[in-house]
Amino acid sequence: MPNESYGTKLLRFWVPDLWSGLWLLFGLAPLFFFETFIHEGLHWLTAQASGGSPVLIPFAHFNTSFGRNINGATMDSPGFIAMPQFVAFLLMVGVILLFVFTSPRSRFLRLVLTWWYLGLAVDLLFNTGRGLVGAFKEGTDWAKFAADAGSGLAVFLSWLVLLAFLSQLVWIAFSRWHENRPPAAGFFDFRPFAIFLAAVSLIAVILSFTVSHPAIVRNWWFWMIWIWQLASLAWAVFYIVRVTARSQP
Ligand SMILES: [Zn+2]
Repeated sequence: MPNESYGTKLLRFWVPDLWSGLWLLFGLAPLFFFETFIHEGLHWLTAQASGGSPVLIPFAHFNTSFGRNINGATMDSPGFIAMPQFVAFLLMVGVILLFVFTSPRSRFLRLVLTWWYLGLAVDLLFNTGRGLVGAFKEGTDWAKFAADAGSGLAVFLSWLVLLAFLSQLVWIAFSRWHENRPPAAGFFDFRPFAIFLAAVSLIAVILSFTVSHPAIVRNWWFWMIWIWQLASLAWAVFYIVRVTARSQP
């Protein structure tokens, strides 16, 4: 599909066809958990390596030690505070290189990479966005990093993150990603991705109750995200059953 226009390439990156675009939306709740888990997991690993005894809370809740609703937290975590941002940046650059230089034929692999790229980009931009204008929000990773390393460096790196994300507007024009794009998908073509999302949502639904810490308050924010997660799980399971029943003779 080398003769497509610039705009078509940009559109078809995010929405290769209607159903793939919808499955990206169906994947938002599991993506929220997955990316939070990666982010907090990096805090957790950093704290472990620094000799701490951290507690990883990979779900939305009200946290009494932060005093507000948060997407996830790692309690009692010493060590380099901005590790998730630095690692997420390297991962985002890595995924971009895959988009530029490769073109897998697998619909599943393409969807998973696009899905995770969205998670990495949103996590990074959400964390560093206010740093673009030096307006660090007190208590956040990036504010602590700015206090330790200097706000000049934090502002510079915030712009680097945004430019890396916006670089899509340049590389989309010559990337190889479009070359092996599968033909438009139908309703029944997403079982592997549905199984993957169901597994992620199931882990999220369970961990929301098995992790405990005195700072966790399960308020309306917790329940809203949890019900969203449960609904995503229910949809994925319904879809898997539906598709599997159809493929039986
Ligand atoms: Zn963090």
